Amino acid sequence: MQKIMIIEDDKAVREELSLLLENEGYHPIPVTAFHNITQQAAREMPDLILLDLGLPEQDGLSLCADLRRSSDTPIIFVTSHDSTADELAALSMGGDDYITKPYNIPLLLTRIKVVLRRSSPKITADSPEYNGLKLNPAKGTATANGHTAELTRNEIQIVAHLIAHAGEIVSRADLIEALWDNKIYIDDNTLSVNITRLRSKLDELGLPDFIKTRRGLGYQI
Ligand code: CA
Repeated sequence: MQKIMIIEDDKAVREELSLLLENEGYHPIPVTAFHNITQQAAREMPDLILLDLGLPEQDGLSLCADLRRSSDTPIIFVTSHDSTADELAALSMGGDDYITKPYNIPLLLTRIKVVLRRSSPKITADSPEYNGLKLNPAKGTATANGHTAELTRNEIQIVAHLIAHAGEIVSRADLIEALWDNKIYIDDNTLSVNITRLRSKLDELGLPDFIKTRRGLGYQI
């Protein structure tokens, strides 16, 4: 689940945002103490930060500059200041986007989705390569040891996602979510079928252990 840190001193707005994000399937992290926000962000490692401009201890712009010194976490300013100068200043300080209060909820959710997608690793890199396997998403093929196998779109996306996270354990839920992001709506059973078929193709390419199962955790390459 993607974590969104809400840095907003207006309690009503903060709680409303928190509830809204929770309903959308995000994990909201509302900040309630405003003196050590950079440390809180470093500890929570959110995927995205919603940042108010007017805050009690330190204004949003200088806080954004501080956050940027230690992290690339995307930041969307949620601000009631709707002057263009403020917005431009916000963006030049390292914010990824901004939205003005009172915000339009569908617009806010769309901005969040776009910024999160832009910052997450691309599921189909041009021709990802790993451990002797070369993927060609455009042709729908995988090549290894001089042999080429045809892969389905699902199989391509699975391998591309695992390569993008090489060395990490990728849970089945993460894999399903990554495929959903690419408009492939598969369930747990379908994922198992896909993985089994993919493994037999990799086996034929001379890579029988390319995808390792980490029991109870997920997959790893
Ligand atoms: Ca405020």
